[in-house]
Amino acid sequence: MRILVCGGAGYIGSNMTAMLSAEGHKPVVFDNLVTGHRSAVVGALFVHGDLADYELLVETLKKYKVEAVMHFAALIEVGESVQAPLKYYHNNLCNTQNLLSAMEATEVDKLVFSSTAAVYGIPNQVPITEDSPKEPINPYGETKMAAERMCHHQSQTGKLAFASLRYFNACGAGNNCSLGEDHHPESHLIPLAIQAAMGKRSEIPIYGTDYPTPDGTCIRDYIHIEDLCRAHLLTLNKLEATSEEVCELVYNLGNGKGYSVKEVIETVKKVTGKDFKVVAEGRRPGDAPVLTSDATKAMNELGWKAEVSELEEIVETAWRWHSKHPDGYPN
Ligand code: UDP
Repeated sequence: MRILVCGGAGYIGSNMTAMLSAEGHKPVVFDNLVTGHRSAVVGALFVHGDLADYELLVETLKKYKVEAVMHFAALIEVGESVQAPLKYYHNNLCNTQNLLSAMEATEVDKLVFSSTAAVYGIPNQVPITEDSPKEPINPYGETKMAAERMCHHQSQTGKLAFASLRYFNACGAGNNCSLGEDHHPESHLIPLAIQAAMGKRSEIPIYGTDYPTPDGTCIRDYIHIEDLCRAHLLTLNKLEATSEEVCELVYNLGNGKGYSVKEVIETVKKVTGKDFKVVAEGRRPGDAPVLTSDATKAMNELGWKAEVSELEEIVETAWRWHSKHPDGYPN
């Protein structure tokens, strides 16, 4: 299929693009390169553009005869979303509306949307199922939930078959470890710990050691990037195969296993063979104690299962990428 990958120069989008191309699809990446990297785009045509640019979107959808869209283009920093909520509403919600309008105008009727476990807020129960209450606790989660709702309403018209994929903690490197995480600023635990192991940071903070968990630190569900991307391929196939007039899918994507912050840090030390300083700090606002997924629905309906479930294996792939790219992507 000819697929427009919005945000295809970012961490998840670039891995998805490489996988689509390897599977024989024809991806076209659309990215404003504000947080993405041009050199992370492999095996695809590239359009340098912003989702706010309706004309360019329409032109691109027409020019490349796009059949489906995957939408990864979003801002993802929880802390920043609290400081600058309007920036998040603009990028994550208004720009998604623009994309849906351009799709409607060009009759492109399939969308896979990147959502997040942040739509659940602080869950009453873990592991989290798709029908758990959605009560985001920060503007980032709110904008993703609002975008999901907008897609839902558009899907009700019969003009859009859409899937919302709620990611837990995507990590590791894909495409033979050639595509990894390079955020500026970096805020994610695994790349930060690896940078500490590489001597690029003097220490790593643990945000909260008094949580009601066995070792007092937060527990998260870390899913390898290639497992995550494979679920998108299966989702796309399902959207394409549907004969329903109204099609709306939603899946949690996680591997179901929880690891604490301390366990992640110990794993990074083990994999890299390097020790580094770890400092206990206060809780980070907006962090839920435990977030783990129940991905039974994706398993049953997509035939998907996380293949890389051991944290050590995931961290090894990230370590291989960081070792080869100590300064990140060249551009
Ligand atoms: N974390 C930490 N120190 C850091 C970065 C993150 O203790 O320097 C914790 C964070 O509080 C959370 C977990 O690591 O409990 C995973 O955070 P990350 O930002 O990687 O992903 P999130 O779960 O927030 O999406």
